[in-house]
Amino acid sequence: MHHDKKSYTTNNQKGTIRFIDSKAIRLPKLKDVRIKMHRPLPQNVIIKSATISQTPTGKYYIAIVVQYEVQIKPITPTVETTIGLDYSSKALFVDSKTNSPDYPKYYRQAEARLKREQRKLSKRKKGGQNRAKQRRKVAKLHEKVANQRKDFLHQLSRQIANAYDGVAIENLNMRGMAQGLNLAKSTNDNGFGMLKTFLAYKLADQGKQLVIIDKWYPSSKLCHICKHENKELTLADRNWTCPHCGTELDRDVNAAINIKNEGCRILGIA
Ligand SMILES: [Zn+2]
Repeated sequence: MHHDKKSYTTNNQKGTIRFIDSKAIRLPKLKDVRIKMHRPLPQNVIIKSATISQTPTGKYYIAIVVQYEVQIKPITPTVETTIGLDYSSKALFVDSKTNSPDYPKYYRQAEARLKREQRKLSKRKKGGQNRAKQRRKVAKLHEKVANQRKDFLHQLSRQIANAYDGVAIENLNMRGMAQGLNLAKSTNDNGFGMLKTFLAYKLADQGKQLVIIDKWYPSSKLCHICKHENKELTLADRNWTCPHCGTELDRDVNAAINIKNEGCRILGIA
């Protein structure tokens, strides 16, 4: 617990915590307490617990944990409102509309600074005062960068979940992927896994669909125009020409379109 903030939590046992009206609450072992509600409660909530805290300036706050049911109306996506995301170790992902997200500039700067400080740390003498100090500095920066990344992925998944009714994504084995030595790559591997987690519940909250495509689906090797499978395609081929129909294809965009199409097929809207 934080030293300058006093607090305690009490669980609701059969009505020991309840609202008298919008201006008063009953708490265990206390008389009814006059309150100022910060926002109205939804209908039919079950109060789980209350945390009473006092700020250093002597103000009291009560945080209430409640449980309630919401009716979510399922939305059926259309081909137009569905998007496919192809994982990219360089750009996090490429979507079926050819767009890629980019981490904000402040994030890139913090990340670069972290790398610099990590290098400095590796040069510090073992067991020395300066090394301990530098290690704390690096740990702090690390936390900052991780928080910024999480915030960005929250924003990004929010935008996608609001803009589309269906999102198709490949089922990649993230745990295996993140073990690489390449920092940028492992960052994006982890980021993509986190994005997927955020997308799953942000879509579900709105009755929308996340479609996971089987990892054996040959999203990169199929020409999205004629469905010819190019078995000769290697990881190094960033652009290729379909030997069957002659279409010029960008590897990532083509894969994202295939992922979208496969998602639509699974949703029954192809
Ligand atoms: Zn083709």
